[in-house]
Amino acid sequence: MKNFRDIKDQDRLIERLQEDIAKHQMKHAYLFIGPKGVGKRTLAQAFAKTIFCGQSGDACDECDTCRILEHDNHPDSYLMRPEPGKDYRIDAIREMQRTMPYKPVAGDYRVILLDEAEKLGATCGNALLKSIEEPPEGTIFLLVSSSLDALLPTIVSRCQIMRLSPLTSESVTELFVTDYGMDHEQAAMLAGLSSQSMEAADYVAEADEMMDWLDFSEIDRTVRERPHELWDLSQSLEKLDRLTQVIGYWRKLLRDALVRSIDEKIKPMLDSEEPVWDEEYILTALDLMSETIAALEQRANKRMTVDVLLQRLRIAANA
Ligand SMILES: [Zn+2]
Repeated sequence: MKNFRDIKDQDRLIERLQEDIAKHQMKHAYLFIGPKGVGKRTLAQAFAKTIFCGQSGDACDECDTCRILEHDNHPDSYLMRPEPGKDYRIDAIREMQRTMPYKPVAGDYRVILLDEAEKLGATCGNALLKSIEEPPEGTIFLLVSSSLDALLPTIVSRCQIMRLSPLTSESVTELFVTDYGMDHEQAAMLAGLSSQSMEAADYVAEADEMMDWLDFSEIDRTVRERPHELWDLSQSLEKLDRLTQVIGYWRKLLRDALVRSIDEKIKPMLDSEEPVWDEEYILTALDLMSETIAALEQRANKRMTVDVLLQRLRIAANA
């Protein structure tokens, strides 16, 4: 479980939460909102931990309370979430509500974290609303959601909204190194697949497979120099579960190359390691990749789509 000090790029929100704790003026309900993988639940949990620990700034990690929290055994800390792929069930909400009349067991506060609150729906949302409107003393609700629209407006209006900032790509890289034990180069490549969040963490298990295909200059070399291998290449690409993300990454590399090629006109630079792509090729390739991603997203035949991409890249390279 992370502490405030381990969390990146959310300093402003952390300051506000620390202030609420220091003044003992916590709201009845907070709503942590932001895109997937940006660390909403992590921030909410760090907040809960700091509340229970009782230090004003950050959890100490040394007291009994912190140790109990680390083992998920705190009697006043509730983490609720729907079953994978499903919505919240009303009996789960009702069961939680049955504890409401009792005082917190260990201290002054009870914290109820509802992860994936966008899956509450109208029935569970309305049931929960009653508790949020008239919470027993010391009860704090932390709602975590990636969508504001999916929540009942009546719930949203009762919550202090904490909108998380996107992560910088440096932070994403660093988190992959510290949390997933990747080497820096691998982490930076994977960070390139995420849009300012840890969303690519979902692909970590498949990362090794993907890593082999991320280097577009290698693909480009096959396209230019070994057209007889294109058939095998497209067969291998077809097997990738995350093909769209891989092509998205190529697009990012090419966009970076385009920016560099514009820079180079102003300030000539020679870097023999970098593949030399002319602007026209890059622009054509970018279009082709966007078309390919769109086609794949519309469930076009994967093999045929990849074949067409490689063949058209070959034509563009030889133009
Ligand atoms: Zn502590």
